[in-house]
Amino acid sequence: MLSNSLIELDRNHLVHPVASYRAHEKLGVRVLSSASGATVTDTTGHQLIDGFAGLWCVNAGYGHDSIIEAAARQMRELPYATAYFGLGSEPAIRLAAELAERSPGDLNHVYFTLGGSDAIDSTVRFIRYYYHAKGAPQKDQFISLEQGYHGSSTVGAGLTALPAFHAGFGIPFEWQHKIPSHYAYRNPVGTDPQAIIAASKQALRRKVEEIGAERVAAFYAEPIQGSGGVLVPPTGWMKAMRELCRELDILFIADEVITGFGRTGPLFACSEDDIVPDFLTVAKGLTSGYVPMGAVFMTEHVYNTIANGAGASLVGHGYTYSAHPVSAAVALEVLRLYEGGLLENGRRAGKRLMEGLQSLADHPLVGDIRGRGMLAAIELVTDKTKKTPLPIAADPSRRIFDRAWDNGLIIRAFGNGVLGYAPPLCCTDGDIDAIVDRTRKSLDQTL
Ligand code: PLP
Repeated sequence: MLSNSLIELDRNHLVHPVASYRAHEKLGVRVLSSASGATVTDTTGHQLIDGFAGLWCVNAGYGHDSIIEAAARQMRELPYATAYFGLGSEPAIRLAAELAERSPGDLNHVYFTLGGSDAIDSTVRFIRYYYHAKGAPQKDQFISLEQGYHGSSTVGAGLTALPAFHAGFGIPFEWQHKIPSHYAYRNPVGTDPQAIIAASKQALRRKVEEIGAERVAAFYAEPIQGSGGVLVPPTGWMKAMRELCRELDILFIADEVITGFGRTGPLFACSEDDIVPDFLTVAKGLTSGYVPMGAVFMTEHVYNTIANGAGASLVGHGYTYSAHPVSAAVALEVLRLYEGGLLENGRRAGKRLMEGLQSLADHPLVGDIRGRGMLAAIELVTDKTKKTPLPIAADPSRRIFDRAWDNGLIIRAFGNGVLGYAPPLCCTDGDIDAIVDRTRKSLDQTL
């Protein structure tokens, strides 16, 4: 009863993010009502393992009392404090310091946002300010990767390469450019890691030459392309691109909105890639999805260039909810949990997940299995040898999503035949085995 009336209210009033509105009206919403650990329950009482941690964000898992207590304590003491007018709050200051201590290299300055899209937006504004401060305002062209996702704000959607974020909007992005992804499974240069790295380097060099080196501001990359289908670059790719950006005199931005906070193993994937970008963006796992928050890290050089350029003037960038004390209190507690065993558990569970998914390699529908840590994908094909993609119209990934739902598993169906996995780091061996078993069952039912 409750569920039916909610479906009607949803259909009539709630505009869903990134949705086919008419298809959604027809299908109706599925309403989640409670969760614990890696398991969520809907309003009909159906229990499911959340194999996608909400939207790859609930890294710590659900129902941690200590996170809830941290939020409640902060709300009681000081629910809001602006960071404008030279004011601040203890949790936000402590969080910035704790994050700076753990971030790669000298990414010591942290600007807090509400999520990932506005973190990306903020980098664009900071980069423009940086080049004005350096006396090079003509550096106003931005490059990112095909299959890349960097949010859906008016500016960030331009860096995002996924077609749905452009079609129908008609917003011009002439100052944003793309180069091909490293996408190993379907790379024209083949699967050899060195050939893929060389091709990406050549593509960036050519693009910079084409635009004019004096015009190019920055290159954006995710350590693993998430929404593009969990595309894992070869080892050394991030380092090679970072070094090339230095040589070409353009800034390098690592977008760790998905890969940050244990998703690939360590707190930051950049540490594993052994690089220090000029900017690093995070969100999602920062607060484990319990409350909204994102952040932009900048190096000493970038921060000081902006600060010196501004002199006594205001750097006019900020939001009412920048450095929100409740979000910061939550993030501090989440960080404590990560380091108190969750990262370690995630690394162990990630290994089991990859091994488990590999056991599906001989399934007739499975073309590719890829991932790192607790971030993985299966690419479905109709012909394994020819790597024939699934015809979009007949894409069974939505059907597999439905089968998986019925079998008690939430996975992401990307719509291009790719199934995505990003379970909470708290998963037990039993949770991981269930994810694999329920995937196999769902694939079999779809054949
Ligand atoms: N950057 C990356 C790499 C992302 O995956 C996302 C979201 O999935 C964003 C930016 C945007 O973050 P948000 O959805 O919090 O605005």
